[in-house]
Amino acid sequence: NKYIVIKAHIDGKPEESDFEVKTEPFSLSVKPRSNDIIIKNLYVSIDPYQINRMKTMSASQKASEFAVGISPGQVIDAYGLGKVVASGNPKFEKDDYVVGLISWGEYSISQGFILSKLDPMGFPLSYHVGVLGLSGLTAYVGLFEICKPKKGEKVFVSAASGSVGNLVGQYAKHFGCYVVGCAGSPNKVKLLKEELGFDEVFNYKEENDLNSTLRRYFPDGIDIYFDNVGGEMLEAAISNMNSHGRVALCGIISEYTNAEKRAIPDLLTVIYKRITIQGFLSGDYMHIFPEFVTTTIDHLRAGKMHVLEDVSIGLESVPSAFVGLFRGDNVGKRIVQVSQD
Ligand code: NDP
Repeated sequence: NKYIVIKAHIDGKPEESDFEVKTEPFSLSVKPRSNDIIIKNLYVSIDPYQINRMKTMSASQKASEFAVGISPGQVIDAYGLGKVVASGNPKFEKDDYVVGLISWGEYSISQGFILSKLDPMGFPLSYHVGVLGLSGLTAYVGLFEICKPKKGEKVFVSAASGSVGNLVGQYAKHFGCYVVGCAGSPNKVKLLKEELGFDEVFNYKEENDLNSTLRRYFPDGIDIYFDNVGGEMLEAAISNMNSHGRVALCGIISEYTNAEKRAIPDLLTVIYKRITIQGFLSGDYMHIFPEFVTTTIDHLRAGKMHVLEDVSIGLESVPSAFVGLFRGDNVGKRIVQVSQD
């Protein structure tokens, strides 16, 4: 069994050389222990939050449930999709597809914790890691549960070509909002405007003063900001919010690799404009999953939803796929296909 590890804790921007592939003896002919499920990993998700687990962490951070640290040399658990090859667990059978917590490796051993059986419902398996998986749920929950849009409202989304961001924009457009996104390259801007139907998109790397950029795109103010990046973009968005605006704090990727770059939003604006800023974790909203899947499948079957996937092949590509997230290499959901079904 091959798996990916970090060589040492990573503080700052990750590099491919921070990772290595390890191999351990692994026999598929050994019967699994009671409750154990042996999974052949097919698709693993490449997610920005993992960098926060790879940092040198203080004891208090380590103890917190949302940032369980990853130690050098340790198997890295990750979201993904696989097929059961052997099961000692009554809830799972050989050949079941499963989605949930597996690992950045060829095989995973699970006790069924954060793992469910999957019916692919006729869709490609990879969709269940992205558009029909946690990325989709995150976009859906952040927009509809946290921001509670009204038709015609003006929505701004950052990292708009990313896995979560592109879906936020598409849901908001279908719902009847005016949607502006920002992304980090001319190709991404073109794709979002011409293929995905965003009303406006700008390349934030070409802008000097984000505050005036947002004023230009939202002369009447922002009603909803779906934040994937934090930092200066969050500060500028808060300054441009309308009264009773809502901010869904989904992620702050610009701050993950730069501890000094913390957003300092204008809190007096937050008070006077009665702005709601809410952080959320999509995992807390599994009760919404059936509603989210039904809505998204309807959109997909009606041909109303574009699926942006960015799939690399082979476990060895995990480090470059991961590191590339922080350079903006990906367009849509970044996934590594570890094995063929
Ligand atoms: P993405 O697919 O959006 O990939 C990351 C993207 O972020 C890159 O492509 C890049 O696009 C952009 N980016 C990278 N570095 C910076 C930077 N310094 N400043 C601005 N943008 C940057 O990832 P996901 O869709 O998976 O995740 C998006 C956000 O949502 C992340 O912050 C993630 O941690 C968070 N998240 C939160 C969840 C929750 O439950 N709260 C669940 C899932 C994700 P570009 O070219 O535009 O720069």
